[in-house]
This record gives sequence, C-alpha cells and structure tokens, in this order.
Amino acid sequence: MTRQKDSDDRVVRAAEHMLADEGYVGVLDLFLAMHWLEQAHIQRWQRQQVPDLEGLMLSKRPKRLQALEVFEAWAQERDLPQVWAAFYPKSRWQDKELQVTVDGDEDLERRFRQVFLPEDADARSRKKVQAKVQEKPELVAYMVRRETECGWCGTELPKRSLILLEKEAAICLECAELDHLTFLGRGDATLTRRARSNSSLNVVIVEWARRRKRYERQGVLLEPWALEKAEQECCEDQDQRRIQREKAAQRRAKDDRTYCDQVFQRLTDMFPNGDSDYLRNIAEHTTLRGSGRAGRSAAAKQLDDDMLRLAVIAGIRHDMTNYDELLMLGWDRAEARREVNERVNEILAAWENKE
Ligand SMILES: [Zn+2]
Repeated sequence: MTRQKDSDDRVVRAAEHMLADEGYVGVLDLFLAMHWLEQAHIQRWQRQQVPDLEGLMLSKRPKRLQALEVFEAWAQERDLPQVWAAFYPKSRWQDKELQVTVDGDEDLERRFRQVFLPEDADARSRKKVQAKVQEKPELVAYMVRRETECGWCGTELPKRSLILLEKEAAICLECAELDHLTFLGRGDATLTRRARSNSSLNVVIVEWARRRKRYERQGVLLEPWALEKAEQECCEDQDQRRIQREKAAQRRAKDDRTYCDQVFQRLTDMFPNGDSDYLRNIAEHTTLRGSGRAGRSAAAKQLDDDMLRLAVIAGIRHDMTNYDELLMLGWDRAEARREVNERVNEILAAWENKE
C-alpha cells in the first residue's frame, strides 16, 4: 500500500514539476519525466518504425494505467484547463495520427492525448499550447553528399540530390510526391515567412555541415504559386512604401509652400517698401527645410517678427553691403558687422517706410 502511495506521489510530483517548468504537461511528457519513455522511442515511433509507442514503454501496463488515473485525478482536483494533443508521423504523409496504445483502444488513445495547463492560464496561452501540441512534425529533405539511389524506385540520385526519410528508406522527391515543388534558398526572411504561410506543403532543406557537425538549413521547397504570391506581396509592400514616401514628401513640400507664403506675407507687412522679389527670396531662403537658417527655427515657424527681422538683416548684410568682402579680407566678424551696420539700418528703415 505504501509502495503504491509512493508511486502515486511520484506521478504528482513529476506532473507539478512539468507544469511549472514547461507551462503545460501531457501524458507523454509525464512518462518521459518518469523515465518510462525515452526521446529515442518517440523518434522511432514518429518515423513509423514501430506500430505503436506503448510497445516501447519501459513500464508494465497496469502501472501505466494507474499513473494515468492519478494524473487525471490530480488535474481534476486542481481543476486545470485542458487541451488535446495530436500525434502525427514524421513522414511525407501526415493525415493520419499515430497510434499510442498496443491495441488501439479508443478511450485510452484519447486519454493519452490529454494536456493540462496551469489554472491561471489565459485564453492566449491556451491557444498557444494547443497549437504546439497539435503541430505536425516539419518535413525535412536532406541534400545527399554522395551519389545514392532511391530506396523505393531505385532511381540513381547524383550528389546534392534531395531525399526524404520515410520509415527506414531514403526516397526521392518524385516518390515523395514532392517533385512539383519549387526551391527557395535561404536569405530573405520576409519572403520565406510569407511563402511558407501561403504554401500547404513546406519542406525544409538541410545539408550536413561537416566542419560544424550539424545539419544546416539551405532553403525550403514550396508550392510554386505560394512563392509567386509571396513575391507579389513583397513587391506590393515595396510599392506601398514608395507611394507613402512620395505622398509624405509632397505633403511636406506643400507645408513648406504654405509656410513660405505666410512668411512672405509677414515680411511684406513688416517691410511695405521692401523689394518684393527680394523679400520672396528671403522667405524661400529662410524656410528651406533643414537648412538650419534663422527662419527655420521653431520661433520663426510661429512667424516671430524678431526672427524674421534677423533673417532680413542677415540677407541685407550679405547681399547689399561689402560685409562678405570684409570677412574675406580677414576682418573680425564683429568688426565687420559694426562697419556695415549703418548701411543695413538705412536699408531697413527705407523698407519699413519709417521716414
Ligand atoms: Zn524514388
């Protein structure tokens, strides 16, 4: 009796652990944690090299069923939210789920697919876990490093051909009914993501990297129309971005135009006797986007009279006096300003019509 209780406690402890660590716990996870099952078993089962998973489990059936009951009772007592797992083969043909139990007992098959989440799991994490535990294994094509032949049709396959692993055999794309797919090399993440989500068939291509001693992704095989559609979508996006950029530039130009007109208007008010072309010039000059001139500053944007006046003074100084010449002759800037000040004030006064 105590031994039974110990064993039950072990189940609950393992389940609590998995729930806290992973954010969910399923029956197979639990059995893995209890060492009744190994990843290698699951791989063989997913490759369909065995008819069911239960035959590989390292525990007696009554013990497993007892553990399953304890697991269910624990979840029920804690009122844990539940989702259902789905077990698909690592195969080109994935429409049928794998069998867990030796006898294919329907009730047991269902119970083996129970997955529990923490009691505070919200709808979003529930959906996420649900998607994860129902995911089909990714289809993988291996780029062969030496000549080989298809394990089904015997066709000779040259170096760098693609093969799929089906049960114990390495088969060609034609036998795998994938020879209609088109290749997209790695590199463009956006295009790849889009094309993959469009395509109902996705085969990741990997090649053994000898130096790094691991398989590396080389690209993906997709339905041709899915790739085409993704390419189109990416183009449209680029167009869309270009159009938006152009519109923004136009809007800015228009803003600048209005702003320039306003500045010119204000200048004409301030200097009723001023040369209208020249004032227009100053208005354009000072409102030039990004020029960093006096007229562009935040104060001038609010048509600050003092700022505009300074802009006009600067213009007059440069264009209607010998200020620049003096600077070139090596005059000190302040001295040069003092020198031309009188001339500048004369012109200002005349423009302001203050006689
Ligand atoms: Zn073949």
